[in-house]
Amino acid sequence: MTKISIRLAMTRRAVLANAAAAGSIPLLALSISPAMAKMSQASVAYQDAPKGDRTCSGCGLFQAPSACKTVDGMISPNGWCKIWVKKGG
Ligand code: SF4
Repeated sequence: MTKISIRLAMTRRAVLANAAAAGSIPLLALSISPAMAKMSQASVAYQDAPKGDRTCSGCGLFQAPSACKTVDGMISPNGWCKIWVKKGG
């Protein structure tokens, strides 16, 4: 191998390594974002019943019919958790 071919091989290797690294970051972000974005029901003391007059359906984070922007899993419109925030508030 000549000096020029060695240099070209090293350059190709560097380009491929950079491309792989650059490509892996968005894939990693896509693969972990949804799961990492939501909290567990246990961590926010979620319950299937209201807390006084506060319900998930009255919370700004509720997504009808049965989800939450912040808490993972099935969410009852009549549920509640400790990060409740008034809808429109
Ligand atoms: S109270 Fe709000 S934040 Fe908590 S689970 Fe219900 S919709 Fe989500």
